[in-house]
Amino acid sequence: MFGRTIYQKIYRKIKQHDTIIIARHIGADPDALGSSLGLRDSIRKTFPHKHVYTVGCPTSKFRYMGGLDHVTEEMMEGALLIVTDTPDQKRVDGADATKFKDTIKIDHHPFIETFCKLEWIDDTASSASQMIIELINHTKLVMDQEIAGKLYMGLVSDTDRFLFQYTTPKTFRLVAKLIDDTGLDITSLYPNLYTRPLKEIKFQGFIANHLTVTEYGLAYIKITDEMVKEYGVDVATGGNLINYFNFIHEIIAWTILTEDKNNGVIRVSIRSRGPVINEAASKFGGGGHIYASGAKLANFEVGDQLIEALDEVCKQYQEETK
Ligand code: AMP
Repeated sequence: MFGRTIYQKIYRKIKQHDTIIIARHIGADPDALGSSLGLRDSIRKTFPHKHVYTVGCPTSKFRYMGGLDHVTEEMMEGALLIVTDTPDQKRVDGADATKFKDTIKIDHHPFIETFCKLEWIDDTASSASQMIIELINHTKLVMDQEIAGKLYMGLVSDTDRFLFQYTTPKTFRLVAKLIDDTGLDITSLYPNLYTRPLKEIKFQGFIANHLTVTEYGLAYIKITDEMVKEYGVDVATGGNLINYFNFIHEIIAWTILTEDKNNGVIRVSIRSRGPVINEAASKFGGGGHIYASGAKLANFEVGDQLIEALDEVCKQYQEETK
């Protein structure tokens, strides 16, 4: 294997296997879906005889990203597993990496653990979709307009329209090439990504009106099941709205905690434009990126402890940057 690039190593494993299962993280978002579905479609188009499937729970919100596959245990036998956008085994949706003989991880999260035989981790990449674009560019894997659309949606969503850190010159170079090579009409993708029901906008207004902002610049809100029901939204909506609270003078980090009664957990999304938040999230069984993290908590009492920990992080940040 000496001398081969990571792209060649991954491509070689893809070539060697007739059945390939592609998994991504639980609670799929456009990057998880874009990277896994884009890679699936590219492998299918490059090697039409291969059986390539994506696994994991479907999400109706992101239906427009493309259909998932129905995969049985038998279909997974002898397959190569490729996991995208997922740093740790426990967050893989629909596949147990220990049951596969050969496994690959392609991820842009900070390292948590090794659970695949071949791991390509680039925590400076804007998105897992960006890494798949890179992989395709460096191998004989096929790129076309449809695949480009999925990968672009993943990338543009994970960078929040090129706003986030890790939107680098490389990101722009890869996107420019993607558009040049495939003639992708990026504006045609935005209605699917950004059109929202009015009730969600009203819910966003409710959150804005009920945020608590601490003296250290932490904003938080605890959304109960009743509030979710009152606005006719779902338990994921609060978390999906988190990025809309960026660039507010008085707020440097913010978190939305939503009661998920069906699953008996509190879903937490956290964002920051300064303080490092993933360490605090990890202490509560969550994790993520330095400025974008999440967690699942047992109840709002634990939520209060997390809020306290995040406020402390904001306090320290304010003191350090005075
Ligand atoms: P979200 O707020 O759900 O968009 O998540 C932001 C980031 O935090 C993503 O990179 C997720 O992978 C990570 N994350 C979200 N929830 C969890 C969790 N329960 N455990 C670990 N990481 C999480």
